[in-house]
Amino acid sequence: MIPTFSIHSKENTLINEAYETAMQDLNEFFDIKWAKDTPKIFIVDDRKTIDSFLEKETPAWSVGWTWTKNAIIILNPDNIAQESTHKYNEDDIKKLIKHELCHCFYRSICYHTKPNWLTEGTSLFIADQLDKYKVPDAFSKFLTDERNYNEAGFAIKLLVDTFGKNKFLEFLKSIKGINQDEGIFEKFEYAYNSKPTYEFFNHLLSANNLG
Ligand SMILES: [Zn+2]
Repeated sequence: MIPTFSIHSKENTLINEAYETAMQDLNEFFDIKWAKDTPKIFIVDDRKTIDSFLEKETPAWSVGWTWTKNAIIILNPDNIAQESTHKYNEDDIKKLIKHELCHCFYRSICYHTKPNWLTEGTSLFIADQLDKYKVPDAFSKFLTDERNYNEAGFAIKLLVDTFGKNKFLEFLKSIKGINQDEGIFEKFEYAYNSKPTYEFFNHLLSANNLG
């Protein structure tokens, strides 16, 4: 099939409001005033079109994607019950939009999307999605398991709660253009006096009450 898609401009109150609030919060968190070439939202009606657009088979639980630093794609909220494993929930949709837009900010600051636990953890934490997950008893998976969003989100929350937002932003800026673990871990050590290890994060966990 020729990869051709038609785009229509669309007004959707829920999405517009979610976007405005998310952009305001994200600009504030990242201390940025993103005014030009701000991220666009592509609303796609069905999974078949999404899979064709992204050139991969997307899992049924997945409903949002960051395409570039200037675009996110979401499944049309009206079709979410038919086209995914989720139910229609306005709060979840707002958080989803904020999560994907947060990835755009990450890309615009770091110029890459590595490592997975850092980008996903940052989006989960900032989009306030951790209430869907149980606080881990101990960290043991997220550094290698790309799908372990749960631990990654709490790890970033601990980093920001313990050492502050400014240090976190400084660290993110320091990994601009560095897309290899080794280089990123060195910058992490420079900011936090330790490589990102389970031992480091478990120490933060035991010193903080996340419950
Ligand atoms: Zn994500």
